[in-house]
Amino acid sequence: MSATQTPPLPPGMPGEDAPTLLVKIFGKDRPGITAGLFDTLAAYGLAVVDIEQVVTRGRITLCALVTAPDGAGSGTGEGALRATVHSWAESLKLQAEIISGHGDNRPRGVGRSHVTVLGQPLTAESTAAIAACITGAGGNIDRIFRLAKYPVTAVEFEVSGALTEPLRTALATESAALGVDVAVVASGLQRRAQRLVVMDVDSTLIQDEVIELFAGHAGCEDKVAEVTAAAMRGELDFEESLHARVALLAGLDASVVDEVRRQVRLTPGANTLVRTLKLLGYQVGVVSGGFTQVTDELRERLGLDFASANTLEIVDGKLTGRVTGEIVDRAGKARLLRRFAEEAGVPLAQTVAIGDGANDLDMLNAAGLGVAFNAKPVVQEAAHTAVNVPFLDTVLYLLGITREEVEAADTAR
Ligand SMILES: [Mg+2]
Repeated sequence: MSATQTPPLPPGMPGEDAPTLLVKIFGKDRPGITAGLFDTLAAYGLAVVDIEQVVTRGRITLCALVTAPDGAGSGTGEGALRATVHSWAESLKLQAEIISGHGDNRPRGVGRSHVTVLGQPLTAESTAAIAACITGAGGNIDRIFRLAKYPVTAVEFEVSGALTEPLRTALATESAALGVDVAVVASGLQRRAQRLVVMDVDSTLIQDEVIELFAGHAGCEDKVAEVTAAAMRGELDFEESLHARVALLAGLDASVVDEVRRQVRLTPGANTLVRTLKLLGYQVGVVSGGFTQVTDELRERLGLDFASANTLEIVDGKLTGRVTGEIVDRAGKARLLRRFAEEAGVPLAQTVAIGDGANDLDMLNAAGLGVAFNAKPVVQEAAHTAVNVPFLDTVLYLLGITREEVEAADTAR
């Protein structure tokens, strides 16, 4: 069927000009309201065209779009229906509103996106600015719902009528000015099919820069930190900076590897993120410009499917100040993302990459969704989306997974 053809209406569904009634119920929520309303409507032999219901702080808003009853004037006409519904609502101290009209919702515009907004807190001012920005980009907000109230307030807007890319660009500028995180992803089955998540390690999966932990033991922390910062800002070639920093570790006793492993602090939400993704059947990997001496242990501890990093050379119980094997630099990270995707049997468009540094940029851009996590400005500007709250599990909300689902999955284990 071509996009311009309209599918035939199923039996009982109203045409564009057919009379329909919008029945809206509002009031204190309690069990049985939905059953009660439709039980009341059932006497009129109506077809249900659409239903939306939400409960906010104990108040229910229930909207039902139904075909208008035949037989005006008789005991089964619209007048009788209105009287019955109002009397049922009053008996439950609910407000009812019935609006006559024609047909179904207007067809949604071309271009569908999910706009996820993360705020800590989410202010009315930011919400106003984001909604105005969506409207300004030609979009219409079709639905809004809350994904999470903890550890941040996360709200999702379903938007139609605007193409994803320009909407993303417009909202990126607005969100940076507002200091909230906004992610825009295209609607469609692909969103549910993202099946491989690849993360950077230093300052993403963990709070530390591993080379700085080693440098702490070698007494050259300041020198190494300076070079790391310049490399992450994209001012230095990563490989060059890696060799320069590792050289400073020459002569360090290999026993510090265990100490460094003990020092590593996972980012808040890291466990939840990995555990939830694994429960959902995702494959999860890490690529690091750091060292296999740490990533192998993380792989084991978190049950990761993939891990790749540089390896510190150890000879006769001492670090030599060199790395061995394939260098994981900026290009290497993107190459590994492709390799992992291939091994996982997941198309690149269905991958998610998360990172904070300039050496993550190629990987973030190669992935279907690139998330800059508390990233350097150069990375934030170039990535699809940025998260600036310090909780790694907020990435789940960008994938449309709600806090309740995360918690339910945890309880079910
Ligand atoms: Mg990093």
